[in-house]
Order: sequence, then structure tokens, then C-alpha cells
Amino acid sequence: MSTVAISLQSGSSGNCIFVEANGVRLLVDAGISGKQAELRLAHHGIDIRSVHGVLITHEHADHVSCAHVYQKKFHLPLYATGKTWAAMQRYRSASAHGEVRLFSAGETLKIGALRVETLSTPHDAVDGVAYVIDAGSRRLGVLTDLGHVFTELGPAVASLDGVFLESNYDPDMLETGDYPMALKRRIRGPAGHLSNLESANVLKAHGKRLLWACLAHLSQNNNTPRIALHTHREHGKHPFPVHAARRDSVTDALVL
Ligand SMILES: [Zn+2]
Ligand SMILES: [Zn+2]
Repeated sequence: MSTVAISLQSGSSGNCIFVEANGVRLLVDAGISGKQAELRLAHHGIDIRSVHGVLITHEHADHVSCAHVYQKKFHLPLYATGKTWAAMQRYRSASAHGEVRLFSAGETLKIGALRVETLSTPHDAVDGVAYVIDAGSRRLGVLTDLGHVFTELGPAVASLDGVFLESNYDPDMLETGDYPMALKRRIRGPAGHLSNLESANVLKAHGKRLLWACLAHLSQNNNTPRIALHTHREHGKHPFPVHAARRDSVTDALVL
């Protein structure tokens, strides 16, 4: 059975990725409105109410701002670490009355016939995680908001058949752009985001098994899909197709 992945939206104005494998339908993050998620899934013939759960990466608004809608309107259970769940309560981005399944970062979840591995990230969230969805024959990573290229990232990417990998900013655009200095420092600092070059080097060094990669969480102001793809082409010379998730629209289905 194949693994199907669709980015409904990716970037600092909202994140939500759909994955289906072994008869289990999941969303990763709930950072776009319920209406948009519903419409963009419907575009692919998928009813959002048929989704089995929402994996939350961390409590930043671009990942969880609409989690309460997914809980209340669509009755979807959330999966989050205890600390992330507590932070979501503080920011009122989740409903305390909705269903939640708590886990510890590093734990492997069993959801239907899927194994979902959770990987701690050094991003500036209380307890951020990235996910590897293991359907047995195929392994898909959703790896964004990574902080920096941490030790466990390479081996994780080396184990994957498909990946959504953060490729957040072009260093020159960030440098010459008009963001305040503190924000520039945060983005390129060890708890911020991965640049196009860092992302390209990770794929080049570790993407041995990859059938495709989809660049994700591109910055609105410090990147464009064209520039990100160009950096990956020039520096990565990847032997597999590379796509770029959009900040404002749904992608085609990517299949493993
Ligand atoms: Zn983010
Ligand atoms: Zn974040």
C-alpha cells in the first residue's frame, strides 16, 4: 500500500500536512483555518472528518492556531507532548474539552497500522518534535522548525523514503532584508530555522534512500520557491525530484 502526502500549506503563516498510509489518515499541525483545511483536502477528494488524528509539532501559532477548530468542529483527536499541550492551553489554541493523546518526545506512537516516531528538535519551543511516519515498507519524515542541523537529523533523513524538510531562508535575503536584527539573529540562530544551504547539505549528505523531497516552511520575506529550489539544485545536485511546498496553496499528492 502506498503512502500519500499533501501539503495543505507550509510556512510562517500556517502549517498543515496530510499523510495517508496503511489506511490511517493524519494531519501534521493545525495552523490553517478549519475551512481552508477542509477545502484543500476536498480538492483532493478527502473528507477532513475521515482524518484519524492531528500530530502537533510545537506550540507556535503557525502550527496550532486553529487546533481547537479541528477538535470541536471535526472531532479530531490531537497528539502532543505534555509540555506542548500545556503551552497550547496557555495560548488558548486548543480546547481542553477536546480529545488529546499525550506522549513524551522521543516516544514511538502506534496509530492503527502505523508507527509514528517522534524526534526532539532544538527549536525555540517548549518541547518541539518532528515526525517520522513508518508504514513498514515506506518511511516519510515531516521535519520542520528544526533549530539547527542537530546530531540525530542526519540518521533520521538517511532512514527515509520521502521527506518534507525545512528550507526556511536564503541567507543573503535575510541579511539584506528589513527584519529587526534580533529577529534575524533568532532565525539563523541555533533555535531558529534551517537555511536553504543547510537543508541542501542535509539532503546531499544523508538522502541516500529518498524517492523525493519537498522543501517546507519557506519564509515569506526571506525566500522564494525558485531561490530555494535553485540552491538545492546548485549545492545539493540531488538525484531525486525536489518539490517546494507553497505558503498559500495546496500541493499535488506526493506518493511513496
Ligand atoms: Zn513554524
Ligand atoms: Zn516554530
